[in-house]
Amino acid sequence: MSVTLADILAAQRVIRGQADMTPLVPSPFLTQRAGHEVLLKLEIAQPIGAFKLRGALNAVMALPKGTAGVTCCSTGNHGRGVAYSARLRGLRAVICMSELVPQAKIDGIRALGAEVLIHGRSQDEAQEAATRLVAEEGLVEIPPFDDPKVIAGQGIIGLELLEARPDLNSILVPLSGGGLAAGIAVAVKAMDPDIRVIGVSMDRGAAMHAALAAGHPVAVDEVASLADSLGGGLGTDNRHTFALCREFLDETVLVSEDDIRDAMQVLYYEDRMVAEGGAVVGIAALLTGKVTARGPVATVITGRNPDMKMFTRIVTGQDVALGDLVVKGKAYGA
Ligand SMILES: *Cc1c(COP(=O)(O)O)cnc(C)c1O
Repeated sequence: MSVTLADILAAQRVIRGQADMTPLVPSPFLTQRAGHEVLLKLEIAQPIGAFKLRGALNAVMALPKGTAGVTCCSTGNHGRGVAYSARLRGLRAVICMSELVPQAKIDGIRALGAEVLIHGRSQDEAQEAATRLVAEEGLVEIPPFDDPKVIAGQGIIGLELLEARPDLNSILVPLSGGGLAAGIAVAVKAMDPDIRVIGVSMDRGAAMHAALAAGHPVAVDEVASLADSLGGGLGTDNRHTFALCREFLDETVLVSEDDIRDAMQVLYYEDRMVAEGGAVVGIAALLTGKVTARGPVATVITGRNPDMKMFTRIVTGQDVALGDLVVKGKAYGA
C-alpha cells in the first residue's frame, strides 16, 4: 500500500506544533440522542479552520530547497492549507479555483498571502489551470487528496484519536476525495482493526461512494450542496485514495441536504459551534440513525469555513437556494 502507519508517524514529527493536537470534546446532546458517547474531533481549531493544513504542510515541508513555488486546485480549504504552508516556508503559492467557489473562501485565501486564479466552472477545469502553472512556471502542484504525503498528514488525526480514546467503537469521517478517510483508516486499522472507520458523504455527487459501488472511479455530476467541501470527482487517474478506501473503510453512508441542514443546526444550537455542511455529515449520520454503534463514536468536525450568509440562513430557518435545488428552511426544534 502507498501509505503506511510509518508514513503517518513520520508526518506527525514533521508538522508537530504547527497543525496538530486538536481537541476531542464530548457532545452531551448527541450522546443523549445516540445512547452512547459521541465525541467531536475539532479540526475547526486548526489555524486555517480546517484539517487540510495537516496534509498540505506535510507535503510542502517535503519539497526540496529551491522550489519555485506551489500551486493547487481547491474548493477552498485545501487552498487555505497550501497557502498557509507556503507562507510558513517562504514559498510563492497560486491557488486555482472554479467560479462555483463562494467568495468568502476566495477572500480567505488571499488573506493568507496567496494568489488566486479563477478558471472554469468545475474542479476539472480549475485543475487545468494548475497543470499549466506547473508546465509553464515550474510550480509544484500539491494535490488535495491523492498524494501519499497529503494522506499521511491527514492520517495523524487517527493517531490522535486513538491516543486520546483507545476505546472508540467507530469513527465517522466526512468523505470526498478520500485523503482524510484513507489516512485515518490506515492509522486506525494498523493500531486496532476492530474500530470501524465509516466515510460519510452527501447523497448528491458522492464520488467515492459511487466509485466503491462500481469497483472503480466513475465520473459523477458535480452538483451544488450544503456540503460544498465534499464536491468534486476522484480524478481520472486516481492512484492512492480509491485503493486505500476500498481496502480500509468499513462502510460509506450518504446523508441528504435536509439531514445536513439539521446537523448544522444541532452543532450550532446544542454544541454552540460554527461548521460547514461538509463538516457535519457524521453528525447527520448519527441523528438520522444511518449509523448506529455499541460504544463511543468520534466524528471529525472537519472545517469552520462556510459562506456565512448561507450559514446564517441555515441556522435562522430560511430557505437556501443551491443550483437546481432549494433546501427548505426549518426553524430549529420545529
Ligand atoms: C476536503 C474536506 C473534506 C473531505 O476530505 P477528502 O480528503 O477530500 O475526503 C471534508 N470536510 C472538509 C471541511 C473539507 O475541506
